Amino acid sequence: MYSLWMRAALLTLACCCISGSARSWGFFGHERINRIAVFSLPPEMLVFFKPHLAYIVRHSTTPDKRRYMVADEGTRHYIDIDHYGAPPFPALPRSWREAVARYGEDTLSRHGILPWHLERMQYRLTEAFRKGNGLQVLRIAAELGHYIADAYVPLHTNSNHNGQLSGQHGIHGLWESRIPELFADSRFDFWTGRAAYIPDCNSFFWTAVLESASASWQVLEKERMLAKNYPASGKYSWELRNGKLVRQYSTGYTTAYQDLLGDMVESRMRGAIAAVAASWYTAWADAGQPPLAHLAALTFPELEAKEDQRLDSIATAGSIIGRGH
Ligand SMILES: [Zn+2]
Repeated sequence: MYSLWMRAALLTLACCCISGSARSWGFFGHERINRIAVFSLPPEMLVFFKPHLAYIVRHSTTPDKRRYMVADEGTRHYIDIDHYGAPPFPALPRSWREAVARYGEDTLSRHGILPWHLERMQYRLTEAFRKGNGLQVLRIAAELGHYIADAYVPLHTNSNHNGQLSGQHGIHGLWESRIPELFADSRFDFWTGRAAYIPDCNSFFWTAVLESASASWQVLEKERMLAKNYPASGKYSWELRNGKLVRQYSTGYTTAYQDLLGDMVESRMRGAIAAVAASWYTAWADAGQPPLAHLAALTFPELEAKEDQRLDSIATAGSIIGRGH
């Protein structure tokens, strides 16, 4: 029989259990992706990015924190592409202007604008390099890294994004947080080679999104199969995390799911790392490869640190405005 404390804990934790659904790739994954991408850059860029590695890593999660404060933020992290018909979604314009002309901005925002936002951020990063604005380069690069990583998560491209339409609630965090946390360091190979140049960013970003969309059906189907065959009593476990008791998918269940998925999570994470490095490199190349060494000693205004602290405290205490994803 549960003690009173245990019962209270179960009640309060029931809502926030299976953590991670609100934060794509989990903080772990986003930080890891931005960090490794830095080391794929050519020496002319590394000379600036490496001294600011901590900044690039820290701000890999800023866009998710901003969702607690800014109503328009959420829609940048996903696209419910199944809303637009069947693959390869020929009616869905890949250009923002044409998409707005066909569907209107409200509809696009409602179903997520991730692929178009990636192109906008790519443009902004190129401009920041062109102007030689080191602060902007770091900030936009770190945040672009976040959105690209989101595009590599299959459930960021499906309206059934947390299994809420198929009785699989919590699958979002299982795929993108629980698996990487358990297996990334021991099983995944993250080295993806030197950053490549992207000749056509629009088509590159859409390819990533379409790959994710086609994988999203497997993500759901394989978990549905597993849940049917796995003993229900062993599906979840309680673990202490940062001093709190958290209900989450058990190690056994997560391992069985990872085995069913094969190398999918690793390969999407590797894809994200290569894509983040490539997008940074491409922005720098398109800006005319400006020298960056003199920016290595850049310091950050005090105001920015205060703003970051404010964002952190709102994200810790508050709840997301709009859809959790
Ligand atoms: Zn996100």
